[in-house]
Amino acid sequence: IYQDPHVENPRFKLHYGDLTDSLNITKIIQMCKPDEIYNLGAMSHVKVSFDIPEYVGQVDALGTLRILEAVRLLGFEKKTKIYQASTSELYGGMSENKNKKGFYDENSSFYPRSPYGVAKIYAYWITKNYREAYEMFACNGILFNHESPRRGETFVTKKIVSGLCKIAKSGNGKLYLGNLYSKRDWGHAEDYVEAMWKMLQQQKPSDYVIATGKQYSVKYFIKLVCKELGLKLSWKGKGLNEKAYLNKKNIISIDKRYFRPTEVDTLLGDYTKAKKILKWTPK
Ligand code: GDP
Repeated sequence: IYQDPHVENPRFKLHYGDLTDSLNITKIIQMCKPDEIYNLGAMSHVKVSFDIPEYVGQVDALGTLRILEAVRLLGFEKKTKIYQASTSELYGGMSENKNKKGFYDENSSFYPRSPYGVAKIYAYWITKNYREAYEMFACNGILFNHESPRRGETFVTKKIVSGLCKIAKSGNGKLYLGNLYSKRDWGHAEDYVEAMWKMLQQQKPSDYVIATGKQYSVKYFIKLVCKELGLKLSWKGKGLNEKAYLNKKNIISIDKRYFRPTEVDTLLGDYTKAKKILKWTPK
C-alpha cells in the first residue's frame, strides 16, 4: 500500500467530494477559497467508458461545468485559477488532423473516439468558454498518456509490467491483452504534473499540449519490459491468434474483450508551445 506523505501534513486537508453533486462542490470551494483548482477528477478508463457512458458524461463533462460555475457563482472568478485535465483522446488518432510534422498540437482539430473522449471534449470547450465569457484564468492541459508506479492496474503499461514481473518471479501466469499495435506517446506523470502547475503560474491563461514527441507500440513496450526482466520471448501467429512464448510456454495471448469498439490507433504530441512558453520539457 502506498502511504501518501501528505496525510501526515497538517496543512493538507481532505474533504468528501463528488463531481456529480453541485452543492457539495460549491460548498467545498466556498470553504477553501482556493487560489488554484486542479480538476483531475474523471472516470478516466477509455474502455470502461463504453460500459458506463452516461456516468462518464455526468462526471467528466458536467463535473467540469460544476466547478467552473461554482467559482463564477461565488464571485471567485478573479481569484481562483483552474486547471482542466484535457486529454490526447480528443484527437482520436485521426490522420487528417495531424500537423505538417505528423504530430498533434494545439491547432489540430478533434475527433474523439470514445464516450470518455466525447465527455472530455465538452469539458475542454466549457473551460475555454468560461475563460472567454467571464475572463476566468482557466487552462486546458492536453496531456498525452502519462504513467508512473501509481498507474491503475488496468491500464496497459501497468498491466504489462505487473503481469510480466509476476511471470518472471514465479515462472507461472499468463497475460491477456488487446491491440498490440496501437501506438502511444507515453510520458512520466511527475513531469506532467509540473507542467500543470506551470500553466497556472503564467501571466495569461492558455491551452497546452504536454507530450514527449516520441511514440511506441504496445508490442514494443512489452519488448522493453522483457529486456529489463531478462525474459526472452518468441512470437507466433497473427491477429487474435498472436501469442508470445517463454521457454515454449504461452505467456501472452490476445483476448478480444480488451479491444475497444472504436480504437485510437496512434497518438503523438508536439509540445513546442509548452517548451517555448512554459519552459517545459519532459525529463
Ligand atoms: P488509453 O490510451 O488512455 O486508452 O490508455 P490504456 O493504457 O488503457 O491503453 C493504451 C493502448 O493500449 C490502447 O490503444 C489500448 O487499446 C491498448 N491495449 C492493448 N491491450 C490492452 C489491455 O489489455 N488493456 C488496456 N487498458 N489497453 C490495452
